Amino acid sequence: MATTLRLARTNAEAHIYMDLHPCDCGEGNFARTSSVIEVDGDLASRYVGVCPGCGQQREFVFAIPEDVRLPPPGSVVFGYGGQSELLDAGEWMFVADRYARATPTKHTPGTDAARQARQQVATAAAAMGEVLAFVPPDADAVPFESLRTDRGRATFDAQPGRFYKDRLEVIRATYQQILTEMDAKTA
Ligand SMILES: [Zn+2]
Repeated sequence: MATTLRLARTNAEAHIYMDLHPCDCGEGNFARTSSVIEVDGDLASRYVGVCPGCGQQREFVFAIPEDVRLPPPGSVVFGYGGQSELLDAGEWMFVADRYARATPTKHTPGTDAARQARQQVATAAAAMGEVLAFVPPDADAVPFESLRTDRGRATFDAQPGRFYKDRLEVIRATYQQILTEMDAKTA
């Protein structure tokens, strides 16, 4: 069976993809264990677990990069340049929106709640970076043709103006500013 696996550049990217693809029963979460396996002579990462909704075994297999890098602790990194093979720009925007709902300023610095909120804002910032990766070098916006999924196209269609490079950069900078302010309070 020759299957072309899609590349998960980091564990974080694989988890985000799995979160966006729920079980047939509708449950999105499942406790995953991962292992490195060989597929057609190449190394791949395999995630398995049981769906808590229906008990079905869930499995995802991704290609892994030749050069596996680990992001520095406390940072969120989905890839190291280039475009995601797992999510399109609209899906990354969907992810950024979902994680940007965290309100870190509500939490007392140094608490688990504050750390979790920080992680969510860092995820939103990294996801905006992934949207930006889909803006071609000579263009000023994400091209609609680059969207591969229904969810991505729906997110784009809802507010196409958000996919302009300058707006994407402003939003990402806003998230990064929130992180800087949080870190200043905790330091
Ligand atoms: Zn299920």
